[in-house]
Amino acid sequence: MTATTGHTTPTVRARFPEIADDARYCLLIDGDEVEAENGATFRPVDPYENLEWGFVADASPTDVDRAVQAARRAFPGWRDTPQAQRSALLEEWGRLIVENAEELARLQVHENGKTLVEMRLAVLGSHKLASFYAHLAQTLHGYTVDPALPDHQAWTLRGPIGVVGAITPWNNPIGLLTPKLFPAIAVGNTVVIKPSEVTPVSTLRLIELAHQAGIPNGVVNVVTGGGPAGRALAEHPGVDKLAFTGSTSTGRVIAHAAAERFAHVTLELGGKGAQIVFPDADLDRAVDSLVKGITAGTGQACNAGSRLLLHESVHDEVISRVGAGLESLTLGDPLDPATALGPLASRPQLAKVTSYFDVARTEGHRLVTGGQRGTSSPEIERGLFVLPTLYAGVANRSRLASEEIFGPVGAAITFRTDEEAIAIANDTRFGLTAGFWTSDLDRAHRLAPRLESGVVWINTWRMFSSRLPFGGVKESGIGSEGGLHALDRYTETKAVYLGLRP
Ligand code: NDP
Repeated sequence: MTATTGHTTPTVRARFPEIADDARYCLLIDGDEVEAENGATFRPVDPYENLEWGFVADASPTDVDRAVQAARRAFPGWRDTPQAQRSALLEEWGRLIVENAEELARLQVHENGKTLVEMRLAVLGSHKLASFYAHLAQTLHGYTVDPALPDHQAWTLRGPIGVVGAITPWNNPIGLLTPKLFPAIAVGNTVVIKPSEVTPVSTLRLIELAHQAGIPNGVVNVVTGGGPAGRALAEHPGVDKLAFTGSTSTGRVIAHAAAERFAHVTLELGGKGAQIVFPDADLDRAVDSLVKGITAGTGQACNAGSRLLLHESVHDEVISRVGAGLESLTLGDPLDPATALGPLASRPQLAKVTSYFDVARTEGHRLVTGGQRGTSSPEIERGLFVLPTLYAGVANRSRLASEEIFGPVGAAITFRTDEEAIAIANDTRFGLTAGFWTSDLDRAHRLAPRLESGVVWINTWRMFSSRLPFGGVKESGIGSEGGLHALDRYTETKAVYLGLRP
């Protein structure tokens, strides 16, 4: 990454003095920083300042092809590198991530406006993941089996798939990339990454650290740019596996591209998680979780718990307490530790979220709190802020309750029986996360299997372990990431038969 000094915009630079306003960021191909072949660039926007900064290379399909060719050239050497060496390099990369954690976290705040506290946690989680897959890859094994054939022995061999195309969204650029990247390279694949055009710079810095750690040129490449660069990567015949996190609509495009050439694919897509509150719930904990489920990451989280299913006996109390909780949150500079809620990440995202305030008015839901842009100070008015929002009396089939808003907007729905709660929770095209609050152990065991969801949280929310998979069912995706089986997603198994002399 090159940082040059020159023209500065005082407000942005006061918050990020380490970055020159005219900093230029290149593609990373074969270990080299290269401009886009046609010289095109685009500019990220700091969502708190609502100001552009830096210049980022805008990759063309030709640039994407160069990156894929580099990854293809690097593949045989990396595949044949001893596992212990690959794991040691990954461990070293993890160490450098910790050493540079503050810089990586700040870059993400600059790009997407999430709080520094949250981005720090995401970076440190990535360090742990590097170590986890460095170790897990050393346990990769095939098996021998009696093939039930005369004079034959047989066994399986596991090996990498080839070149992986990783396409990532803006809402957690490093935290959503590393569950693809680390298992992929740990077992010998090479990778081309297309980060979101909202958050390209943090990914570039992460991959610079890979090179610093000694990971060979061409093993990990980055092409920055928008949807066309992503499409070129998804459609490239030299990419053997697509690992995508993003919206369900783009996921469908990626799945088609993979189907055209039978490439492997994992899709981590949208969600609209239901948090169900039963009458016997610990309401203090539940209310706290509902507030966070609506607002964590300013609601820009696939695992948001923004569909509130409230038993009629606790409905009014929960609505009033969640409303008060939302109103107590401090909006502000995401770098400030006192800030609970940062801005939305981009101007299009602001337009999308505010459009749902109009949807709610048209659909006639009861506004409990919020429902408008933030205006409490000139800074808040200038930034991409909306107030944390709750609507009550919402029908589950309404647009507000059924579409992924990706902003701090909750929709409360009433139910009477357990059966009805499960039916409403499952009455969605999504199936990423869902959960409930109860003190009845019998109910917990009875209902958890019935939720159509890749993750079920009981008396907790947004808890993750690298030892468990994360992924969705229905239109929330195909396949999972993380966990002990992640290496299955980045390896092929072949059967080997040996004929013996009779
Ligand atoms: P998008 O689907 O808009 O974009 C995701 C990535 O795909 C970006 O890099 C984007 O580039 C790229 N892209 C856009 N169009 C194409 C195309 N035609 N072909 C190939 N790539 C393309 O998602 P968002 O970035 O808006 O992310 C938010 C979404 O991600 C939400 O739906 C959220 O639920 C989901 N998500 C899912 C998670 C999960 O684990 N299930 C976790 C986190 C988020 P560019 O941005 O430059 O246009």
